[in-house]
Amino acid sequence: MALLQIAEPGQSPLPHQVKRAVGIDLGTTNSLVATVRGGRAVVLPDAQGAVMLPSVIHYGAADAPIVGASALALAALHPADTLMSVKRFMGRGRNDAEEDARRSHYSLAEGEEGMVSFLTSGGKISPVEASAEILRVLSQRAVDTIGGEIDGAVITVPAYFDEAQRQATKDAATLAGLPVLRLMNEPTAAAVAYGLDADGQGVIAVYDLGGGTFDISILRLHKGVFEVLATGGDTALGGDDLDAVLADWLLQESGFETLEAGEYRQLQASARLAKEKLSEAVTVDVDLSEVLPGGAVISVSREKLEQMIQPLVKRTLLACRRCLRDAQLEEGVDNIVMVGGSTRVPLVRAAVADFFGRTPLLGIDPDQVVAVGAAVQADILVGNRPEGDLLLLDVIPLSLGIETMGELVEKIVPRNTTIPVSRAQEFTTYKDGQTALAVHIVQGEREMVSDCRSLAHFELRGIPPMVAGAARIQVTFQVDADGLLGVSAREEITGAEASVMVKPSFGLNDEEITGMLQASFSHAEDDKRVRQLAEQRLSAWQLLDGLKSALEKDGDALLVAHEREALAGQMTELQSLIDGEDTHAIRQKTEQLGRESETFASRRMDKSIREALAGVSLDSLDDEVMQ
Ligand code: ADP
Ligand code: MG
Repeated sequence: MALLQIAEPGQSPLPHQVKRAVGIDLGTTNSLVATVRGGRAVVLPDAQGAVMLPSVIHYGAADAPIVGASALALAALHPADTLMSVKRFMGRGRNDAEEDARRSHYSLAEGEEGMVSFLTSGGKISPVEASAEILRVLSQRAVDTIGGEIDGAVITVPAYFDEAQRQATKDAATLAGLPVLRLMNEPTAAAVAYGLDADGQGVIAVYDLGGGTFDISILRLHKGVFEVLATGGDTALGGDDLDAVLADWLLQESGFETLEAGEYRQLQASARLAKEKLSEAVTVDVDLSEVLPGGAVISVSREKLEQMIQPLVKRTLLACRRCLRDAQLEEGVDNIVMVGGSTRVPLVRAAVADFFGRTPLLGIDPDQVVAVGAAVQADILVGNRPEGDLLLLDVIPLSLGIETMGELVEKIVPRNTTIPVSRAQEFTTYKDGQTALAVHIVQGEREMVSDCRSLAHFELRGIPPMVAGAARIQVTFQVDADGLLGVSAREEITGAEASVMVKPSFGLNDEEITGMLQASFSHAEDDKRVRQLAEQRLSAWQLLDGLKSALEKDGDALLVAHEREALAGQMTELQSLIDGEDTHAIRQKTEQLGRESETFASRRMDKSIREALAGVSLDSLDDEVMQ
């Protein structure tokens, strides 16, 4: 037998190929791309040497969209055609986004499925399309510098992004033709960038104050594995808000009443520049004549700025406190990682150090740290590093569950559960002969459906008709590594199945999340009472239902008139109690009716046993005759 040559000597047929992986920080204000080269993560500059790509997209009437610094330069002249901070609009509904749009001077339109869109000279543009333009530019930059198509990308999102916002980010990547390995929470990426995994263990707080969002995360590192213990923050608080308070103050000082949209943009840009300078300088002069005809030169001191932004900084610390409480730490925080351009503000650094009682880590550029961490993760995920190098776990911010009888919520995945996660629970039918089951998926901490947020509905059909309680329906919740939720329901006997991927039509901002959490704490006692009442009503209702159908079948045959009347009277009393709110009275009456219907129940039992036995003997008799 001849030998079959499969490769030239000294040449492997499958050379170990390093895959091209990138990490992308798709920021509200600035976006960056990084990759791992020779074991080190580096951010990639554009042809002019700039690393940060302003997350700004200009849609003019004729040309292709302009992205980045050149788009930023057009913002003042063409405010409505120049989209900034589109990340704030990702995965959000029209109504939801109104306030942000007013601040940004955009014209909104209703997009697909009630989602928001912007009206520009270049047409109706969705936040997903605008984000895809940013991703396209970064992707091209990577292809040019690395030399070849990208095999996989990790894109970062704020920890608070919900399912709709994460899905929108993925959609943008698809539109840009980027193969996404997974989405990664920004604070988690920052901790990875600092290589804190090398310490083996410890508790890490990641404080990320960017242009548009604030995130705080508490991570625990155990045996080299990061677990996100808790996350918190504010999706509508960042450097933009610092700019806005300074801009408003400048406007007040200047004596002008109102401004044109373009002028306001320019004033904000001046305020931002002044704010950034004040991170180094102690005073700066803002020349308003560049913004407004006849505007004066106004001097701002760092102290004045600090006075103005103090309440905003305080808000971040309150979120830190809540997050620490959520994390239920028994030990202290070992490291604090600072992320985002706004952590350059000296007051922010001092306030954070003071709050946590230790100096934060500042070694890696706070603008680049997220992209660097994402690149490290991407490198691992494409398989450029040995297996099991690093495992990252994230958590879901609010509990997920389904509606059960009595409009109660059954929680299936509790809040702060690490993802990916899969949880199943068994349910059954409530009525005899029930062939369909409505599954209503809700999010929140409260006991009643009306106090939670509705995410999706679907129906499982094809359940074989059976007596109530006999069917076995398995409901499975699956949250993938990107935080996307899939729910399926399966009837065990027939295998009938139905499922849904949850893409809610608009997102929750963190104020709403915080509000929902606070409500769940303050209503805990009420909720318990409401739940008990609902449960008691339910069991009363079940007893009445069962008795009613039993009476219809056997009432005349097995009970004498006064027995029937006595039961009917009790049932009417229970029925009227159900309409009231007295849990105790409903329970007592239900128990009483249960006892008093025992005779009827045992007669029915005897009857059915007699019938069954009669059937058997007849059959066997027949058999004997036949033989
Ligand atoms: P995002 O994550 O939202 O894209 P970045 O992390 O890029 O935001 O941060 C941008 C914000 O950082 C802007 O509000 C910018 O004004 C602010 N910033 C950048 N440099 C400084 C500085 N030296 N001092 C104060 N703020 C700064
Ligand atoms: Mg950021």
